[in-house]
Amino acid sequence: MTDPTPLLSRHRQVLPDWLALYYAHPIELTHGEGRHVWDADGNRYLDFFGGILTTMTAHALPEVTKAVAEQAGRLIHSSTLYLNRPMVELAERITALSGIPDARVFFTTSGTEANDTALLLATAYRRSNQILAMRNSYHGRSFSTVGITGNRAWSATSLSPLQTYYVHGAVRSRGPFAHLDDAAFTAAAVADLEDVLGQARGGAAALIAEPIQGVGGFTSPPDGLYAAFREVLDRHGILWISDEVQTGWGRTGDHFWGWQAHARNGPPDLLTFAKGIGNGMSVGGVVARAEIMNCIDTNSISTFGGSPVTMAAANANLAHLLDHDLQGNARRVGGLLLERLRAVCAGVPAVREVRGRGLMAAIELTRPGTDRADPEAASAVLEAARAGGLLIGKGGGHDTAVLRIAPPLSLTVGEAEEGARILAEALRTIT
Ligand code: PLP
Repeated sequence: MTDPTPLLSRHRQVLPDWLALYYAHPIELTHGEGRHVWDADGNRYLDFFGGILTTMTAHALPEVTKAVAEQAGRLIHSSTLYLNRPMVELAERITALSGIPDARVFFTTSGTEANDTALLLATAYRRSNQILAMRNSYHGRSFSTVGITGNRAWSATSLSPLQTYYVHGAVRSRGPFAHLDDAAFTAAAVADLEDVLGQARGGAAALIAEPIQGVGGFTSPPDGLYAAFREVLDRHGILWISDEVQTGWGRTGDHFWGWQAHARNGPPDLLTFAKGIGNGMSVGGVVARAEIMNCIDTNSISTFGGSPVTMAAANANLAHLLDHDLQGNARRVGGLLLERLRAVCAGVPAVREVRGRGLMAAIELTRPGTDRADPEAASAVLEAARAGGLLIGKGGGHDTAVLRIAPPLSLTVGEAEEGARILAEALRTIT
């Protein structure tokens, strides 16, 4: 391996210290194809993290590459001041898929900005600056979204002007209700929400929640929790924002959106998305009923939101996803992968839990015999997996250490088996 230090030291000279980098010797990726990526030294890796769930279909998907090249060759930028055919086409597709009646989409360039816009709309609609958010959540790195992020590892610096109240319930396996069965867990979380609303005096604008917490370690509440929350929120006229930045587009296998696991009483009021839809091109957005979307009547533009090149990429990517039933693939191959992960983790003392849904799987690590997180073990497995040719992610709350696995949704059975084999070897470093 050639020494990557020169680029690393240049990076350190000019980029923030807090920009997270993986590995003792960080990797410089140079190209990708399918579910594989290559580094500057020519090493090939099976990619089980997809650039943090962002390479949704596959690396260098020919339809996306072609759509980008063709659109870039014609017109790179037009501005939201002019009609934009690829943007209208993508908005038609997304509103139809969203489940939200009379829906409108506002396109952004990131998940952060999508959530920021959702907060802008919800607070304007409800004339309140109070937000309910879930403990351990992550919603972005802007001033407002850091302010509502419940994961202390990411939000400790916030002095946001929003008044945020945190609610229990997003993490099933830890916390005060962990020992309860699903029904009792849900009832306890609803009681907690009611209690928090007492503090907020019923005046909150919205509750924002990730159906499965991404950065927080792929933790799922019991199915139906947000439907139970919804009944309480509806009594107070409080909006439900579903942050689908990680859980959208069929990633969870059983459902196209994460909110659908909670669908008893219909879709959320607002839905935010980003990451996978552009397959790496910067596309995010918020979907809401027209009544909410249009509650602000000031003129507005987004210079880069809805850029024709990114819209063309997203249209091609979404068409591929739907035509090839990659949600079904996520369910089938994700189910098999989870089985394999459970098998390779059996008997590893540091493994506290293996969990997952579709192609979103996590292995939680603790110091053997305790309930305390083991971030060193997580780093050791990450390094060993890299040495074996597999890229995975880390994550968790401030008190958890989780290996995160989220390959592109086109993962094959053979690749799932290969990844599980490499991981089995990597886990030996901590056994
Ligand atoms: N919301 C969730 C659930 C996320 O996981 C992320 C990023 O990881 C964001 C919002 C922020 O998205 P972005 O990094 O595109 O700003």
